[in-house]
Amino acid sequence: MDEFHMGHLEVICGPMFSGKSEELIRRLKRVNIAGNNFFVFKPVIDNRYDVGHVVSHDLRKLEAKPIGTDEASLKELEQFIDNAKPFVEVVAFDEANFFDLYIVDLVQKWVKQGRRVIAAGLDMTFRGEPFGPVPQLMAIADYVDKIKAVCMKCKKEPGIITQRLIDGKPAKYSTPTILVGGFESYEVRCRKCHEIIVD
Ligand SMILES: [Zn+2]
Repeated sequence: MDEFHMGHLEVICGPMFSGKSEELIRRLKRVNIAGNNFFVFKPVIDNRYDVGHVVSHDLRKLEAKPIGTDEASLKELEQFIDNAKPFVEVVAFDEANFFDLYIVDLVQKWVKQGRRVIAAGLDMTFRGEPFGPVPQLMAIADYVDKIKAVCMKCKKEPGIITQRLIDGKPAKYSTPTILVGGFESYEVRCRKCHEIIVD
C-alpha cells in the first residue's frame, strides 16, 4: 500500500490467533523504514490481553503505547496527536475493539487531515457478534483485511470466530464480553464448530 501520502483508513480484523498484530507490525516496519512519523497505541486492559499486543523485540519504536479506552482518554490522545510536531503521518491502534465509539469520529477526522490510520482488532466477540467500534471502522475504511485462522477443532475450515472456553467448556452467552481474572481460555473456530451456551 503506497498511498500513505493521502489520508486513509486501513482495518485489519479477524479472530484471535489470526495474525492481526503480526500484520500490523509488518506494515509499521515499512512505515518506520520510510521514515514516516508514527505512533501506535493499544488499550490498557487486564494484562491477559497482552497476549496479542504489538511488540517488536528488535525495534523499540514499534512498541504500542498503552492508553485508556474511554472517550476522555481518546480526547486526550486527540490533543496529543493534533498538537504533535512534526506532523504525525501515521496513527495505528492494536486491539481497536476495546476502544470507545469516539474512536470512529477521531479516525475520520485524522483521515481528513491527511493521516494514514491503521486499526487492528477483533471483528467479533466470543458470541460471534460485532465487537465495539470495529464494525463502524470497517464500514468507513478504505481498505479492510479480514484475516482468517484455521479452525482449531475440525482443523479444516477457516477459523473466523473466537471461541471462549471456561474450564474447557463453551462459555455461556451471558458471560461479559471482557472477562477480568477468569479461568477462561480461547480458541479460534469455524462457524460450524463455534459453540455458545445460550442461557
Ligand atoms: Zn471447524
